[in-house]
Amino acid sequence: MNRSLSLSTRIIVAVTLFFFLALGTITYFNYASMQNFAKESEMEKSTQLLNSIEPVVSINMFLGMDDPMRDYLGKITATTPMILKLTVKGSDGKVHFSYTSDRYGNQNITPIRLTRAIHNKILSKPIGTIEMVYSNAKYSEIVEQYKHFSFQLLLAALALVLLLIILLKKALTPLRELAQELKRYDPTKSNFPKERIEGEGEIGIIQNAVVDMVEKIQDYTATLSKLNLELETKVKERTRTIENTNEQLRREIEERIRAEEALKYANKMLEKLSTTDSLTGLYNRRIFEQNLKKYWKTALRERQPISMILCDIDHFKKINDTYGHQAGDKCLKEFAAILEKCISRPLDMVARYGGEEFIFVLPDTPLLGAITIANEIQSLLAERNAHPHTRIKMTTSIGVSSMIPTEKRGSVTLLQEADKALYEAKAKGRNRIVVNPL
Ligand code: GH3
Ligand code: MG
Ligand code: MG
Repeated sequence: MNRSLSLSTRIIVAVTLFFFLALGTITYFNYASMQNFAKESEMEKSTQLLNSIEPVVSINMFLGMDDPMRDYLGKITATTPMILKLTVKGSDGKVHFSYTSDRYGNQNITPIRLTRAIHNKILSKPIGTIEMVYSNAKYSEIVEQYKHFSFQLLLAALALVLLLIILLKKALTPLRELAQELKRYDPTKSNFPKERIEGEGEIGIIQNAVVDMVEKIQDYTATLSKLNLELETKVKERTRTIENTNEQLRREIEERIRAEEALKYANKMLEKLSTTDSLTGLYNRRIFEQNLKKYWKTALRERQPISMILCDIDHFKKINDTYGHQAGDKCLKEFAAILEKCISRPLDMVARYGGEEFIFVLPDTPLLGAITIANEIQSLLAERNAHPHTRIKMTTSIGVSSMIPTEKRGSVTLLQEADKALYEAKAKGRNRIVVNPL
């Protein structure tokens, strides 16, 4: 059976099939047994009739009393309408009696044909035959009646089935309505209109169970929405707290970053202050001494030449005296800028040695390289002095020393030799370069 058929249709089909099967079977067997019964009873009746006729006919024929026999048989045919034809024949073929009813040959009647030998007990031999055609009208009538009855039974069954369909439809309507309401039901709107009903019927049990279930769903939905609301509030509170904390953290981080940057800047400045000379921006003497030791060690290890240039501005006291201390400072700055321009290699360094004295340390540089730089200083300074806007002219005396370090001679030697050369330059009349190779 198709799965999509409704429950009521299935029940109706099942009941109808069962009903008709049962009815058909009962009717068939009843019909068959009735037919047999009718046939047998008709046969019995006609046989009994022949049994009763035969002795009378036998005596009459033996005695040659045909007239009384005809009277006797005439009476019997007149009182027994079921006899359609009756013929008595002698053994010689002579007809002693013959009767044919008006109804003989009627199509509706199925006749029973019987033939009986007429036995003479005295002669102990058959002397003729009785042929009888017996009507089965009664049997046909019974069968006809039964057909009629079967048809009525069928009509009654159909009416019953119709009644069953109506009752079933009516009985299942509340279930269908219940299902439709369940379909429409939305727990958030609590729109279930059915209520509990009294009674022990199956529909009542189902409806009450559904109402119970809907009520539970309502309760759960209410609890759930309450929990959701609480959760939402908590989440909002937490979110707010987290946002506040985040904001606070962000501010703190920003402050720390600012503080760190300030600290870095201060450290940088401090480092610069501790390593550079504030007036000229060149390295100070401390850094010069540190680097000298470092470069000296490297040169010693690698057997490389190291050179030094010591510059002293000539008659600087006079500049100060003539133009003032501030003008002297400006000159020192300009002089430092010229010296910085002469440095090209990353490891070369120039520092303010003190007052108006400046010093170069040139690692991995032979004497010739140092002389080149000293000449460049002189030429850049000359260039500066030649400039029309230059008010205060400056000259410098330069002492150059260079050596390949050995274990015996320390870096002091290099410095002493540069100093000696500078002294010699001063002594020789200033504004010159004196080289002191070792
Ligand atoms: P010399 O040619 O022999 O070197 O003569 P000088 O005058 O340059 O040498 P001296 O040592 O007699 O004088 C150096 C002067 O340099 C003295 C000092 O006032 C001046 N001086 C040192 N440091 C500074 C400074 O930072 N600023 C200014 N304006 N002058 C300075
Ligand atoms: Mg000096
Ligand atoms: Mg000087």
